[in-house]
Amino acid sequence: MTEHESPPDRAFRAEVRDWLRTELAGGFAHARGLGGPGREHEAFEERLAWERHMAAAGWTCVGWPEEYGGRGATVEQQVIFNEEYALADAPARVNHIGENLLGPTLIAFGTDAQRARFLPPIVAAEELWCQGYSEPDAGSDLANVQTRAELDGGEWVITGQKVWTSLAVESDWCFAVCRTEPGSSRHQGLSYLLVPMRQDGVDIRPIVQLTGTSEFNEVFFDGARTDASNIVGAPGDGWKVAMATLGFERGVATLGQQVGFRREFEGVAELARRTGAIDDPLLRDRLTRSYMGLEIMRLNAVRTMAGVAAGAPGPESSISKLVWGTWHRELGELAMDVLGAAGLVMDGEPYDLNDWQRLFLFSRADTIYAGSNEIQRNIIAERVLGLPREARG
Ligand SMILES: Cc1cc2nc3c(=O)[nH]c(=O)nc-3n(C[C@H](O)[C@H](O)[C@H](O)COP(=O)(O)OP(=O)(O)OC[C@H]3O[C@@H](n4cnc5c(N)ncnc54)[C@H](O)[C@@H]3O)c2cc1C
Repeated sequence: MTEHESPPDRAFRAEVRDWLRTELAGGFAHARGLGGPGREHEAFEERLAWERHMAAAGWTCVGWPEEYGGRGATVEQQVIFNEEYALADAPARVNHIGENLLGPTLIAFGTDAQRARFLPPIVAAEELWCQGYSEPDAGSDLANVQTRAELDGGEWVITGQKVWTSLAVESDWCFAVCRTEPGSSRHQGLSYLLVPMRQDGVDIRPIVQLTGTSEFNEVFFDGARTDASNIVGAPGDGWKVAMATLGFERGVATLGQQVGFRREFEGVAELARRTGAIDDPLLRDRLTRSYMGLEIMRLNAVRTMAGVAAGAPGPESSISKLVWGTWHRELGELAMDVLGAAGLVMDGEPYDLNDWQRLFLFSRADTIYAGSNEIQRNIIAERVLGLPREARG
């Protein structure tokens, strides 16, 4: 990859690589490889300490403009950063929701006062964020949000239930989509509120996932309060802001995941060689197809990057989401088939999963979160291919 890079990008890669390699060989050597899908709670405090260490050296929020504490890195450099991060086997990030979702949203839609209040603690990894969108009856159909918020003096008072809220237990703040105009429906009358999580009116209940861990949670707001100024965009105009956040979610950070995918693929191929499964013509064929999928994703990533460079990622980013989600889920299935009967047995009591079992179980979620496969297909059909819109109930 480096041969096509400009001299400044090559220098940037070298700088990132040197820093990561040095720090992860030194005081943070123990943190290498910690965390990740299905292991979200692993060494959370150590990973938070690592993130703060990165912050002190200026390696968080690298893509943000310098005036907000970032490095103003170009899209190419952000991809380089994410690639090197994965190659260095650095610990899974703990504040990616603040850095990749809320931060860019505040930069685009927030007030100066909101940016001054909320961006520095994200850069410093001092305040962690979660995303309060989904509800029991509002997932793919997000416009059906029922959580209410009303002004009481100088504060919003929030009542309702969110669900599948990743990292809510660890978070200090939540950006929540709430219905602020009584009697409104669908996309109208929603607002984008910033709500402190550590208060009496917030009850967080972790949900145990297939992996045995609890990355996501139910969140109950029962008279939770936030200052009237903690609204992004105009009251009732939160849908636009919420959609912009989803656009950022499919942005550059997902491109770095390609390196992780490649390593996982190589691990499965190595496993197949070791167990002899590679001699099975059907498994061999699936391994080959998986490899081709990796190459297709690489090309797709370049296309998505071109969209990011031109502004926010367009609906074409749904193609990347659909392709990588499906590819990764199938890699998990392939890993289990390569393991054969051994894949059905836990490594230890009571529920000690090995890496391949964890990959298989967690990757079931890949085709659901950040927009399910069916929803991506609808977006591609309607907004990329221009096919007739799906009938609305
Ligand atoms: C690991 C993980 C982490 C998550 N983290 C968060 C988070 O931090 N914050 C947050 O707010 N949410 C989070 N979510 C929730 C996620 O956004 C939703 O699960 C997702 O939007 C789907 O909504 P749902 O689960 O309600 O399913 P539903 O919307 O009920 O969908 C059920 C099924 O019906 C299909 N379907 C629905 N509508 C249509 C349609 N119009 N056409 C065709 N098929 C359709 C779906 O594709 C799916 O297969 C997370 C989910 C997962 C799995």
